[in-house]
Amino acid sequence: MDIQNLHINTQLIHPSDQKESLGSITLPIYQTSTFEFQDAQHGADLFAGKENGFIYTRMGNPTIRELENALCILERGSGAIATSTGMGAISGMYMALLSKGDHILSTASVYGNSRAILESEFAKFGIESTFIDTSDLNLIQKSIKSHTKIFFVETPANPSLSITDIEAVSQIAKKNKLIFVVDNTFCSPINQRPLELGADIVIHSLTKLISGHSDVLGGVVIAKDEALNKKLRTTITRMGCTMDPHQAFLIHRGLKTLSVRIEKAQSNAEKIAKYMHSNKKFAYLCYPGLKFHPQHLIAKRQMKGFGTIITFDLDESAEKAKLFLNQLKLIRLAVSLGSVESLIQHPASMTHSVLSPKEREECGIHAGLIRLSVGIEEAEDLIADIEQASKNI
Ligand SMILES: *Cc1c(COP(=O)(O)O)cnc(C)c1O
Repeated sequence: MDIQNLHINTQLIHPSDQKESLGSITLPIYQTSTFEFQDAQHGADLFAGKENGFIYTRMGNPTIRELENALCILERGSGAIATSTGMGAISGMYMALLSKGDHILSTASVYGNSRAILESEFAKFGIESTFIDTSDLNLIQKSIKSHTKIFFVETPANPSLSITDIEAVSQIAKKNKLIFVVDNTFCSPINQRPLELGADIVIHSLTKLISGHSDVLGGVVIAKDEALNKKLRTTITRMGCTMDPHQAFLIHRGLKTLSVRIEKAQSNAEKIAKYMHSNKKFAYLCYPGLKFHPQHLIAKRQMKGFGTIITFDLDESAEKAKLFLNQLKLIRLAVSLGSVESLIQHPASMTHSVLSPKEREECGIHAGLIRLSVGIEEAEDLIADIEQASKNI
């Protein structure tokens, strides 16, 4: 049976290749750094690319390859490269595609380090970057320069949850011959498949929803085009930000429950958003599933579900936000997201503290904003925790 033609819930459970697993139901961990050649000619042929096989784990490994194949099928790409972290995937993509004198255009509230590495490290090599509100198509048109090479979008953005219209942007990217990259970490392929909507490359931090248990780091880059994948693989394996086999095993195990975890967390998120909307204590509330979200209709069109992240405030002040966080008893105060347990944090003093107040304002991060990543606990218990914390301040 061809795995490509099955439903996503089935694809998540069954591996793409069981030929060499000796009947093991779970993914075997090939914890080896290197692979023995059959003879000298075999080694030479592997290096020359005349034969397929494994040489050295930084360049490829059966456990890691199985995870790459699974992710590639889910995102409908032509190949995947697993990396040590999400940032490994992002910096590897930049390194592979950008040259001196190039310009990259990106979402203002893109993941903090995706921006910081361009402004501090890549700027040293003569690479220019601009960050804008990518939900504004006119602004995108105006911001493209003659030397723009990559257009890098995160949607929903973090933590503003503003939505960029992937299909519309892909048209602009094609017209201007830009490589269009989407960071799909907040959605996973269950909720959004950017390559099907016209993107050239999709990126994930596997640390978040895909592994889902706050116990492992990882990243992946998946391109639609085979030549582009080859280019990305060459650079990323040279840089050495590749994955370890044990890491691949843990992420692959998490992947199996991705769909059921998202279903539960998303249903919880919807209930919490509804509760907050009906409670006057929460002055500001943002969730793409709410009808008053500015890009609700685009979200509805391009996402299968509205995700597991909610942002809100009690008032505009950081003090009130911190008091609230300190009163929570069940929801854990920690950064990261997409895990089985609900995690909450204060972006202005935590994940986005490296930005200047002006930059924070530009990407919708006011002093009182709180980001909640909803887990798979029971919604009633989460709401009770939120309710008691909001009453006790
Ligand atoms: C966490 C995250 C990253 C970085 O991933 P790491 O695995 O922490 O390196 C990149 N993009 C988004 C949207 C993220 O949430």
